[in-house]
Amino acid sequence: MDFTIPEEYRALKRVARRFVEEECKPLEEEIERNNDIPKELMLKLAKKSVDIGIYALDQPEEYGGGGQGLLCRVIVAEAFGSTIDAFGFLFSGGDSMIARYGNDEQKEKYLRPLCNGEMFVAIGMTEPDAGSDVANIQTTAERDGDNFVINGNKRFTTWADVSDIIKVWTVTDKVKRAKGGITCFLVETDTPGFSVSNIQETMGNRGMHQCEETFENCTVPSQSMLGNEGEGLTIFGKSYAEGRGRHGGRAIGTAEMLLEMCRDYANIRVQFGKPIGERQFIQGMIADMAIDIYATRMLTYNFAWKYDQGMDVRHDSSMVKVFFSEMLCRVADSAMQIHGGVGYTTEFPIERIYRDVRLRRIAGGTNEIQRYIIARNILRKNIPVGEISEYA
Ligand SMILES: Cc1cc2nc3c(=O)[nH]c(=O)nc-3n(C[C@H](O)[C@H](O)[C@H](O)COP(=O)(O)OP(=O)(O)OC[C@H]3O[C@@H](n4cnc5c(N)ncnc54)[C@H](O)[C@@H]3O)c2cc1C
Repeated sequence: MDFTIPEEYRALKRVARRFVEEECKPLEEEIERNNDIPKELMLKLAKKSVDIGIYALDQPEEYGGGGQGLLCRVIVAEAFGSTIDAFGFLFSGGDSMIARYGNDEQKEKYLRPLCNGEMFVAIGMTEPDAGSDVANIQTTAERDGDNFVINGNKRFTTWADVSDIIKVWTVTDKVKRAKGGITCFLVETDTPGFSVSNIQETMGNRGMHQCEETFENCTVPSQSMLGNEGEGLTIFGKSYAEGRGRHGGRAIGTAEMLLEMCRDYANIRVQFGKPIGERQFIQGMIADMAIDIYATRMLTYNFAWKYDQGMDVRHDSSMVKVFFSEMLCRVADSAMQIHGGVGYTTEFPIERIYRDVRLRRIAGGTNEIQRYIIARNILRKNIPVGEISEYA
């Protein structure tokens, strides 16, 4: 078993780290203040990161991507963990579903500009009455000759307002539903009948717009279907599994940054005549943070490696999601505790991170649902527990 990280991945991570320091960090305060990241800025930064070779790393080379796998994306995503989530999401978001399921026309039209940072895509699954229960979505797509007519409402579609296309999950067969009745479409956001009706205020993740949108007789050609009719939930599952690797990478990066801040602070903050780092309560928190980060890294890298081997990682992806999100919340909490009162002020980024990371246990499938999936696999599928992560 060889755990050596290829030098190429390390080099890309160094490039990404420099990009974060030089291009992202100077803009953080403004984005936090305005709760906005203008599209021109997104385009400009995306273009710069394309030029230095760290954008769309796991997309096919023939369409302008980096031709790497998920493991490389995870390692590079760590560098984006040390900046605000708006940048983290911009540079480590994006799945490979168009590359995997798209037809030639979709790849030419969308994948190339997506890889070049000239276009953005949003994910439209969640609806007012369908969050965890994705099979209960109400948005429909009805065939009309060579077209499909989409009607319904979505919510929590991150950046639907600045995206050029939205992956929209719809019901195409009300009887089959989860069993082959849900279909994904690539809808261009300038299609008549599509509109963003509201942007919700949130606790953190400032700059990332959480949109509510409406589809009213929004008519798209049948060629805009992603994959086959009824294949929507499979595509959704794969997209989320992949995303958990990248978000896991970002979580490692954020936690490491917090640990470094704690190390520095614990060494210089003196109380009762000694640096607080000499107190066992503080040392315990620091040690636990390090153990948590190490475990998350091993779990996430192994998951990404398996994904790149083409193994079935649905079960693993749920475990990764629960582990990295709870690890990050624990680490952020300890970081605030170690910094005492100043950790609670805006002088340090800890309070912002504390707010931002809380989302991770909710979005991308709540941790309760992930635990349900993990337990269901163990209880009902009768898989030997020790070999469960090999389950296919
Ligand atoms: C900032 C933000 C960004 C997001 N971005 C996107 C996006 O880009 N695209 C998108 O499609 N969605 C997005 N989401 C939506 C997100 O995926 C959902 O919020 C999430 O899946 C949970 O759905 P819900 O909010 O409706 O909660 P609900 O499903 O209503 O759940 C409420 C609570 O009940 C629990 N619960 C539900 N069912 C069960 C069960 N069977 N057993 C035990 N507990 C259960 C949940 O775990 C949770 O604790 C985003 C959400 C947020 C807040």
